[in-house]
Amino acid sequence: MSRTYDLIVIGAGMAGVAAANKCASQGWSVGIVDALPYGGTCALRGCDPKKILRRGAEIIDSARLMRGKGIDDDGLVINWADLMKHKHGFTDPVPQNMEDGLTGNGVDTLHGLARFAGMNSLEIDGSHYQATHFLIATGARPRPLDFPGHQLMVESTDFLDLTALPPRILFVGGGFISFEFAHIAARASSTPTVIDRGPRPLKGFDPDLVELLIARGAEAGIQLLRSTIITAIEKSQNGYQATVERSGHTETMEFDLIVHGAGRTPDLSSLNLESAGVDWDEHGVRVAPHLQSTTNPAVYAAGDSANTPGMPLTPVAVIEGKVAASNMGKAAKTV
Ligand SMILES: Cc1cc2nc3c(=O)[nH]c(=O)nc-3n(C[C@H](O)[C@H](O)[C@H](O)COP(=O)(O)OP(=O)(O)OC[C@H]3O[C@@H](n4cnc5c(N)ncnc54)[C@H](O)[C@@H]3O)c2cc1C
Repeated sequence: MSRTYDLIVIGAGMAGVAAANKCASQGWSVGIVDALPYGGTCALRGCDPKKILRRGAEIIDSARLMRGKGIDDDGLVINWADLMKHKHGFTDPVPQNMEDGLTGNGVDTLHGLARFAGMNSLEIDGSHYQATHFLIATGARPRPLDFPGHQLMVESTDFLDLTALPPRILFVGGGFISFEFAHIAARASSTPTVIDRGPRPLKGFDPDLVELLIARGAEAGIQLLRSTIITAIEKSQNGYQATVERSGHTETMEFDLIVHGAGRTPDLSSLNLESAGVDWDEHGVRVAPHLQSTTNPAVYAAGDSANTPGMPLTPVAVIEGKVAASNMGKAAKTV
């Protein structure tokens, strides 16, 4: 099977869907493909499910702050299984709703793992497609780590899908994902530990606010270990034994669950970018300021998979998707 489009978008997350809808509404023939159910990280595995769990934690926290001030929080607990069911009520309808929105707008929705087969051609699970333009919007995935036992960690996606929350959880890496998850876990009666390799976690955020957050986390029962590096994980009788190095010493600690929160990297490895002559590095597809590939004029990139100065956050992905769509349209008119 072979089909030709004005635009094929790879990745049905925030950046990809914004671009596909914008180009289709201008009369382009547009196909979009995803290897997973439609919706991308934010709606299915990131911001939105996290905010639903966080809401439960906020209610517990607010009640505790009002203890002795008119609110009796005795017996107030998070029922994790029910909270998860509530989360699924929001996330489960997303893929179908998103596909319906796209097809209603005239976009062809395709499924499978996409890889380039040439400068202007794409292969999706054995079927071939051509397009005048391509948008790479494949997002990011957890950064590969290579210390012994790293494969025993779970990823953020798994944490957001846990059917039960274990008592002792280690979050590896002091970024915003580890901190938000640790704060949720602390209010759901777990004992979280966060380790960060540097002296100050949450780099890129205001240092004074970060210290206030750390102090608040300590009150809530979150242990933060600074300047600490994980060197190995082994399965133990009751869970996992983590070996860490800090202040020149090696020590071991026991946990029931260890979560990878040590950064994310553009998800480009399956795309066979070399066959399309698309240059890229560890920060993403190399693009000019107008989001066009520096080496293949048919290809644009947006969101977490593009090497742009923007933060890897949803509002940035949406804006970049729209900007790329707009610039592709302008480039087509000048040809
Ligand atoms: C736990 C977590 C919490 C977050 N919380 C927030 C938050 O509170 N606020 C915020 O602004 N941001 C948050 N983010 C970041 C935000 O989710 C991302 O910045 C945003 O989703 C990026 O959108 P995107 O369109 O670039 O990529 P994505 O939404 O990741 O979409 C990429 C899509 O491409 C698909 N894909 C990849 N490779 C291929 C291929 N070869 N073929 C076919 N399909 C492919 C993937 O399956 C995926 O669906 C969070 C992220 C995580 C992980």
